[in-house]
Amino acid sequence: MRAAPAALRVAIVGSGPAGLYAAVELLRRDSRLQINMFDRLPCLGGLIRYGVAPDHAQRRRVAACYERLALSSGRFAFHGNVEIGGALNTDELAQHHHAVIYASGASGDRRLHIAGEDLPGSRAASEFVGWYNGHPDHATHQFNLQGPRAIVIGNGNVALDLARILLLPCSQLHRTDIAPHALAALARSSVREVVILGRRSPAQAAFTTPELLELASLPGIDVIVEGAVFDETSAEQTLRLKLLQELAVRKLQGHAKRLILRFRCSPLEIVGDDRVTGLRVCRNTLAQQADGRVVARPTDQIESLDCSLVLRAIGYLARPIPGLPFDPQQGIVPNRRGRILTQEGDRALPGHYVTGWLKRGPSGVIGSNKPCSAQTVDCLLEDAAQQSLIEPRHAADHLEMLLRRRQPLRVDHRAWKRLDSYELQQGIAQNRPRIRLCGVDEMLAAAGLFPPLNTH
Ligand code: NAP
Repeated sequence: MRAAPAALRVAIVGSGPAGLYAAVELLRRDSRLQINMFDRLPCLGGLIRYGVAPDHAQRRRVAACYERLALSSGRFAFHGNVEIGGALNTDELAQHHHAVIYASGASGDRRLHIAGEDLPGSRAASEFVGWYNGHPDHATHQFNLQGPRAIVIGNGNVALDLARILLLPCSQLHRTDIAPHALAALARSSVREVVILGRRSPAQAAFTTPELLELASLPGIDVIVEGAVFDETSAEQTLRLKLLQELAVRKLQGHAKRLILRFRCSPLEIVGDDRVTGLRVCRNTLAQQADGRVVARPTDQIESLDCSLVLRAIGYLARPIPGLPFDPQQGIVPNRRGRILTQEGDRALPGHYVTGWLKRGPSGVIGSNKPCSAQTVDCLLEDAAQQSLIEPRHAADHLEMLLRRRQPLRVDHRAWKRLDSYELQQGIAQNRPRIRLCGVDEMLAAAGLFPPLNTH
C-alpha cells in the first residue's frame, strides 16, 4: 500500500492582511496542512496594526481571523520577532517547508527627487504613519508641528489619512489607540492648515469617495478646493467629482482649521537652510498621451508656500528580500499569478510564492488582499497536486530546534496574546481603547519574554 503523502508544511513570511488571507484560505482548502507564519516584529497584524489610521479601527476587524487561525487544531504557528534574512534566511526556510509564501508588503517609500527632500521637516508618509501607529522603526521620529501649515504631497487615501490625523481635535484622537507619543505631540501641535497637493485633476485623484466624504464632514474644519477642473467625467468618478464640486463652492464657516485640496500643482523644491521653511510649487496643465493617460505638464506659474512640514504620500515601495528575485522597476517580486519567477523571468521557482503588495504593488484596500491571496493559494495547491513543490530537507521538529537556538526571544501566539492583553488593560486604565507599546524590548517584556512590566 502507498503511504499517504506527508501533510504540507507552508511558511508564510509576514503577518499582515495578505499573509492572513493566505493562511485562512490554505487551512480552509487543505485539512491537514501546517502553517508557520513569521513576522520580524513581536506582534501579529502588519499593515492591519501599523498601516490603518487609528480613527479607522473598524477596518481592523479582520484581525479576529488570527484567533480562528490559532484555534485551528494546532495547524497554525506564529513566530514573531523572527526576521527572514536575519534569524533565518530564505534557503533555510525552503529547507524546512514544502512551500513558502512571501507576504511582507511594501514598507519603503517613493521619493520625489527634488531639492530639499532630505531637509529636517521633509518626511515620507510611511514614517508619519509608522510614528502615529507606534511602529518600533518610527516611534522615535520627531515631526515639526510648530508651524501653522503642513503640506501633504499626493492624492491618494494615505494623503487623506495624514491630513485627518493632523487636523483632528485631540479629544477625538484620545478616543483612538494612536501611539501615546503622537497623541502628546499632536496635542501641542500648532498646525492649523493642511494643504494636499495633487499633480493632476479631481478626475485622476487616487483617493476614494468615502474617505473624501469623511474628511469633508469633519467638524471644525473648512475644506477648500483649488485649481480643480471639472470637465472630465466618467461614470465611476461622478460621485467624487460631485462632492468636490460642492466643496469648491461651499461657503467658508470661518473655522480655526482649514484643509486645502489643491489640484494641478506639483512640488518643485523643498526650501530651507537647516530645516523646511517652505515649498516651491508650479501650476500644471494636463495633456492626454497617445495611450489615453492624462499627464501633468508644468507651466511657468510658480509660487512659494510657507510651511514647516512636508509629507510625501506618493506611494509605498517594496524592498528586495535577500535571496529572492526582485523587479526594481515595478517594485515587486516578479511573479505569474503569485508563482515567483526567476530573475530572468523564464520559469517559476518551485515552491516559492508571493502575495499582497509584494506581488502586485502597493495598491488596494485590506480586502483587496483576499482575492490576491486566494489566487496565490490556487497556484500553490495546483503545484502540490502536480507534486512540484519543494521536498523539505528537514523534519518539522528540526525547525523548532533551529528557531530556539537562533531566536530565544520568539513570540508565539500565546505570548502575542499576553502583549495584546497588556495593551488593552493599559487602555482600560487610561480610558482609551489600547495603549500601544512602541519599542521591541517593552513589547517582548509584555509578551512575557523579559521580566514583566509594571501594570500601572
Ligand atoms: P496611491 O493611491 O497610489 O496614491 C499616490 C498618489 O501620489 C497619487 O495621487 C499620485 O498621483 C501621487 N504621486 C505619485 N508620484 C508623485 C509625484 N512625483 N508628485 C506628485 N504626486 C505624485 O497611494 P497611497 O495613497 O499610498 O495608497 C496606497 C494604497 O492603500 C491605495 O490603494 C489606497 O487606496 C490604500 N489605502 C486605503 C485607505 C483607506 O481605505 N482608507 C487608507 C490608506 C491607504 P498620480 O495619480 O498623478 O500618479
